[in-house]
Amino acid sequence: MLRHSTAGDVRERRQGLVMRKSQGAYVVDRGTDTILCAISNKLRKQLVYPIADPASLRRRVVAVDEIRAVDPIAIGDVVEYVDGSDGTGQILDVLPRANKLVRRAAGRKLLEQVIVANIDRVVLVFAAAEPAPYWALLDRYLATVELHELSPLICITKIDLVDRADLEDEVRDYERIGYPIVLTSAATGEGIAAMRDALRDRTSVLVGKSGVGKSSLLNAVEPGLGLRVGEVSKWTGKGRHTTTQLEMFRLGDGGAVVDTPGMREFAIWDISEVDLAHLFPEMRPFLGQCRFGASCAHDREPGCAIKAAVERGEISERRYLSFLRLNDWEEE
Ligand code: GDP
Ligand code: ZN
Repeated sequence: MLRHSTAGDVRERRQGLVMRKSQGAYVVDRGTDTILCAISNKLRKQLVYPIADPASLRRRVVAVDEIRAVDPIAIGDVVEYVDGSDGTGQILDVLPRANKLVRRAAGRKLLEQVIVANIDRVVLVFAAAEPAPYWALLDRYLATVELHELSPLICITKIDLVDRADLEDEVRDYERIGYPIVLTSAATGEGIAAMRDALRDRTSVLVGKSGVGKSSLLNAVEPGLGLRVGEVSKWTGKGRHTTTQLEMFRLGDGGAVVDTPGMREFAIWDISEVDLAHLFPEMRPFLGQCRFGASCAHDREPGCAIKAAVERGEISERRYLSFLRLNDWEEE
């Protein structure tokens, strides 16, 4: 049998974890240190074609821009790579993902882009004040977590800025549903030990808008991380060179964290086929009990079991309003 051998075939395949990436280069953690890797052409072709819409699939060379939009490798991926002779590596394969956070690739609705793979927990970070929590956004994030069957943790930080009893009243709805919540302050150190425990030995993704206190929180959890605090909005980047690149950090106690600026990385899409009430755990017991059955939108329909539960106080009104808004949410 004819064997087409190249140097790549004889080099040993190793496994590593993708920590960050920029412009086609991937920083792969191999346990003791990191190695900068490129992606093999073969892998690029294998992985870019199959996720395009089959109906419009054309065999052609994929332009560099498009490859970037549908990068086959995500932060959190475990990859197989080979060491090059020059200290860099080449990624040959991506191991199957346990789960993933996806978004639409820019301008190409039919393509998905994996933002982070192999996530154990999604930490939704809001400030108790400055800026005031936007509960409807938390509900939207929670619904997204449910959609992807991920495990959420709600973190309300900057609690030194508010009255604790008032805040506890505000988060009671979430406790009642059974969502885990940690209240923290990077300023006083309150809740930081609990947060450290929550992050230990897991891969967590922190989701929250710029300014809510994520960098301060991570610096408090992991002294020595040295994340910059109080940066100008990462989205506008005004007045400062900032980057929207995501990065994974290893924690000293075990585990790893990915910090994301939120929303755009974390939007619901392609859920037209499901009853959105499935994404609200407290509504699930009432599903199937509406007069109009599966066709009930739980809005103005008579005999709606979910609306009746809201009226009885079994489902919070605020959560119900968030549910109604889920369909016509405008991306920010
Ligand atoms: P990020 O953009 O989410 O990473 O937020 P930063 O960590 O950069 O914090 C934004 C602003 O909130 C900065 O001015 C911080 O000093 C302030 N901040 C962060 N955490 C706390 C906190 O626990 N208490 C108070 N009072 N301010 C905080
Ligand atoms: Zn209904």
